Amino acid sequence: MISAATALARLREGNHRFVQDQSETAAATHHARRAELLGGQQPFAIVLGCSDSRVPAELVFDQGFGDLFVIRVAGNVVAPSQVGSVEFAATRYGTRLVVVMGHSQCGAVAATLEELLGGETAQSRNLRSIVDRVRPSLETLMTGRERLDPEALMRDAVRANVRASVDHLRHGSELLEQLITGDGLIVVGAEYSLESGVVTFFQST
Ligand SMILES: [Zn+2]
Repeated sequence: MISAATALARLREGNHRFVQDQSETAAATHHARRAELLGGQQPFAIVLGCSDSRVPAELVFDQGFGDLFVIRVAGNVVAPSQVGSVEFAATRYGTRLVVVMGHSQCGAVAATLEELLGGETAQSRNLRSIVDRVRPSLETLMTGRERLDPEALMRDAVRANVRASVDHLRHGSELLEQLITGDGLIVVGAEYSLESGVVTFFQST
């Protein structure tokens, strides 16, 4: 089993390679890896990220087949199926690092902000279920801050939304809570910059 600290270092190194345009994962290696993995997988990190097409987790961390257990949903929100997916990978594969990765210019966060500022509201019940999960942390953030400049507000909103998902994973599952207190599981927030390609990890506590 790979420790959370080692896994985190691996992700940092991978993102560094990606940013420097020195990726080591090439199409040629994917084919061989695919065959090797037929007997099973042991992903070293779980990533809960946004579905945004500009934030493919494997690519921004320069990882290949079998390395990451990735859950992607618009706005990187946490609903029961996301908690269940994390529980599954953590118990089945012994993966000890969970990264919740938001990103700049997130459409789900922007839509929620717009709604909170009195703009259009989500029409479909299903889309509503995403906005409703993003909304509480942004409401807290915006209390008394309506006149803040939009760019700063958006940046803070992305981070608040990541923190809310981290909190939910840390405290919304008895199983994960046990793994955190007794078995070295770490849930950490992170933010990907569309502008620079850099992933910035938040403090892990
Ligand atoms: Zn997004």
